Amino acid sequence: MQIAKDSVVSIDYTLTDDAGKVLDSSSGGEPLAYLHGNGNLIPGLEAELDGKTKGAKLEVKVLPKDGYGELDPTLVHQVPKRQFDGDVAVGQRFHAGPSVVTVTRILGDMVTVDGNHPLAGQNLNFKVEVKDVRAATEEELEHGHVHGAGGHHH
Ligand code: ZN
Repeated sequence: MQIAKDSVVSIDYTLTDDAGKVLDSSSGGEPLAYLHGNGNLIPGLEAELDGKTKGAKLEVKVLPKDGYGELDPTLVHQVPKRQFDGDVAVGQRFHAGPSVVTVTRILGDMVTVDGNHPLAGQNLNFKVEVKDVRAATEEELEHGHVHGAGGHHH
């Protein structure tokens, strides 16, 4: 069957940046299963998968506007170190209200935190192989996500 809205799609994928560095991959694990057309994948990748069938192989370059968005400089803040409980280190991530911020720099008593998604502003290069396509169950449609292998277990 062809991938369409509410298909359950299993994919193997490798994600690299423009320098060829692997950012994420399903390699070595089970394929990622997702519910197509429900906003579970970034829009640029989901659009390319639409209409494909089992066995299809794709190479997709997703620009920031169709991925995790452009870098928003207004989401970068300087915060005095004393506002943190305990130690703070570059690379640490914190929940700040509804968003997640990453510590990107510590200079003297000032800490730079960045609320952009770690992949914002980057081109995303996906290599994808469609491993399986099936119809979603009623329960999966109710929950808005896939159950079982590669999906939610609950
Ligand atoms: Zn569920």
